[in-house]
Amino acid sequence: IGAALATAAAGASTPTLTTMATTPATLFISNKFREAREGATFEVLNPATETVLSVCANGGEEDVDEAVKAARACFEGPSWGMSSTGVQRGGCLRALASAIEDDKEAFALAETQDTGKPIEDSEGEIDEAIDYLRYYAGLAEGLDEESPEQLKTPDYNQNFRTRVVREPIGVVGAITPWNYPLCTAVNKVAAALAAGCTVVLKPSELAPSTCLRMAGLAEAAGFPPGALNVVTGEGFPTGDALSRHPGLDKVSFTGSVPTGQRVMAAAAKAGPTDVHLELGGKSAMIVFDDVEEVEAAVDWACVGIFSNSGQVCSATSRLLVQSKIYDQVVSSVVDRASRISVGDPMRRGRDAPGPCMGPLVSGPQKERVLGFVTRAVEGGATVISGDGADRNAAVQKPAVGYYVSPTILSEVSDENEAWDAEIFGPVLCVRRFEEESEAIESANRSEFGLAASVMSSDQERCKRVSRALRAGVVWENCSQCAPVEAPWGGFKKSGVGGRELGRWGLDEFLGVKAITSCKQTFSYNSYGGASPS
Ligand code: NAD
Repeated sequence: IGAALATAAAGASTPTLTTMATTPATLFISNKFREAREGATFEVLNPATETVLSVCANGGEEDVDEAVKAARACFEGPSWGMSSTGVQRGGCLRALASAIEDDKEAFALAETQDTGKPIEDSEGEIDEAIDYLRYYAGLAEGLDEESPEQLKTPDYNQNFRTRVVREPIGVVGAITPWNYPLCTAVNKVAAALAAGCTVVLKPSELAPSTCLRMAGLAEAAGFPPGALNVVTGEGFPTGDALSRHPGLDKVSFTGSVPTGQRVMAAAAKAGPTDVHLELGGKSAMIVFDDVEEVEAAVDWACVGIFSNSGQVCSATSRLLVQSKIYDQVVSSVVDRASRISVGDPMRRGRDAPGPCMGPLVSGPQKERVLGFVTRAVEGGATVISGDGADRNAAVQKPAVGYYVSPTILSEVSDENEAWDAEIFGPVLCVRRFEEESEAIESANRSEFGLAASVMSSDQERCKRVSRALRAGVVWENCSQCAPVEAPWGGFKKSGVGGRELGRWGLDEFLGVKAITSCKQTFSYNSYGGASPS
């Protein structure tokens, strides 16, 4: 894969995936692909076929160090960082967006082969990544127009004037997960590069292909060597080496809570280095009995948990339904689940209409999800749809591939781990409620606070409940919509630091500088604290 991408970077025609070699030259440092210094490798599997897709470099400490040094040299050099304009950086981001767009088919195929997500979902994800790049190109250009913010100083301080400017924070280490491999990487990379930072990206070892493909297009898009570097590798050694590298100004991490804790501890010891963590979730959807269309609510409930096979940080994996319509809603969700075709992620809607669910990303992920279901049942839950249920037990699945049926659990008590743990698979917990206050209390009884959804035709109720939910993202009568302009991130254990996406995402990579000037000649004799007269 790396050799083929290196050829692409050198200006040769972009190879198709089927012609990609398996040379592990997948470290992209200073606009060049190379192998790991120590020659270590790891394999990437296709979860739909359980076969090896590619062999990548497992970047070691020395490789990470070289990447960070390349990023530092670029940041301090003549072509990026403070020496560049927003228009220049925006131009590079726009060129990269267009190059990805021209190669969209291969990007989508790579995403599906790495992750198992349906090809049409991969195409949507690539479109989204292209949008992110163009959006942040616009924000980069806007930075050139930004005037220093003049602060009003109090009367006693009128001889001083303070202005505040924003500057790129420096070198960013970005560590990303596998569930939306290109999008989660691009929302960090695009915002950081727009701000004028340089980046060392470590994509997930389960799904590095689209990030590498993007790196292969960086030089032709105009990025100077060292602006965008990609180090492939596993959590240990690569992610660990990056998060404790003292040469970083910020670590921007998206992944699970336990890894986030490790990253934060490593960064604290190394620097302390600033960290931003985007972590997991266990989001609730509350369906009130005054909902305008019950079937539309059911559709959103299914989108909320079964898209991307439930491997979504903001999946609405807890469904709270008001008593009067509980039976109707749950029965319809079970019915919809039975009509999801679980199988070949390359299948298109035109081949067989209706929603499709691909495999989970890996064998261990499948075992992890099934383990949650087994323990949930041991803890008193009932499987009302999915493997082991009376209804929908016979959802057809291919014999090969890491497939799990859409699964619906009822009778899940607060004490049952399935109610609060992030399962990260197509597993929905359903529960009945009577009163609004009870639903809010139930939804908020979670260590996570990423997202939530409220379904009701009463606008006042929507407003009230949206404000009462402890979540960074709330949807009214929908689920999973994440416009690039809107901030993304959560409360509680779902995140640490600011927000991604929108202008908030750019702010993460800009530092503020206060510049204070004195209007008149200064005399130490008359210096009375902060106000010479
Ligand atoms: P993960 O925590 O296992 O891995 C994330 C990344 O960290 C990978 O690149 C991995 O190689 C790396 N890593 C592993 N150990 C490391 C270490 N010791 N030091 C540094 N890096 C290390 O998560 P995952 O399984 O890839 O992704 C799923 C998780 O990501 C879920 O919890 C999901 O909710 C979360 N997620 C959150 C968001 C969000 O926006 N909040 C978005 C997508 C995914």
